[in-house]
Amino acid sequence: MTVSVRVPAKVNVQLAVGAARPDGFHDLANVFLAVGLYDEVTVTPADELRITCSGPDAGQVPLDRTNLAARAALELARRYGIEPAVHIHIAKDIPVAGGMAGGSADGAGALVACDALWDTRASRDELLDICAELGSDVPFSLVGGAALGVGRGEQLRTLEVGGTFHWVFAIAERGLSTPAVFREFDRMNEGLRVPEPVASQELLDALAKGDASALAGAVSNDLQPAALSLFPELEHTLAVGRGAGALAALVSGSGPTTAFLTQNAEAADRVAEVLLASGSCRAARVTEGPASGAVVL
Ligand code: ATP
Repeated sequence: MTVSVRVPAKVNVQLAVGAARPDGFHDLANVFLAVGLYDEVTVTPADELRITCSGPDAGQVPLDRTNLAARAALELARRYGIEPAVHIHIAKDIPVAGGMAGGSADGAGALVACDALWDTRASRDELLDICAELGSDVPFSLVGGAALGVGRGEQLRTLEVGGTFHWVFAIAERGLSTPAVFREFDRMNEGLRVPEPVASQELLDALAKGDASALAGAVSNDLQPAALSLFPELEHTLAVGRGAGALAALVSGSGPTTAFLTQNAEAADRVAEVLLASGSCRAARVTEGPASGAVVL
């Protein structure tokens, strides 16, 4: 028997970051939108735990037990007293280390796939609990759609979305490490008073209405200055996308993927063409959100 699960990437339409807490983590107000770039995680019974990965970024994905997909399978197996003898294959389309939660998506995908393969019938709450243990973005990968994450981002409230939003994602030539971006955020804010992170009501209203222009006026990412400080070339990419007619241009999560919101699908195609022709990114992907969370195929 084989089980395949499709899991989406995400963009943070708002990422409000509080001051570093004594434990080093940051309180966040995080508005996630799942978008239609997907990884597919396939699990098959095997002699022992094994991971393979295919796709253009496959070489950058760890194939040992640090892979979030492996960690998800190991944790579910541990809780249910099952031998984690499974071959996990990741068909990777989400950029690696791109700020689009690709690793988190694979964790959620492997969890849902192993739950089905082993017939563990874990409750949704238990699956979400394992996701939260694996990482702060993993629960959202399971749920998809749009959600507000508070705390470290792992406590989720599902959000209404009144329409489809059109996006272009520019994939950068190299990755950025999320912890390094948070360290740069801390360095840039040293000695400053960092406000409590709160979700923007204007942004939540724009999502609920499905109003792209209103959403464009409300998107924000507190990690953007830190990502730009570590990767200054991204300023140019953002400017090119804006010049090509994007309603909003921002760094996706911790970057370095940049996200461009457009009025419609045609505008998205045009922005993607201009971005690619400018040579300021490795690839430009046109897609839509919200997308559904982890689904068994
Ligand atoms: P986020 O948006 O959640 O901060 P990201 O999209 O920036 O994450 P990922 O693609 O999730 O970054 O990868 C970050 C790092 O995690 C990689 O460099 C890799 O070392 C590690 N990693 C662990 N499991 C995976 C996986 N299944 N796929 C990709 N990277 C993984």
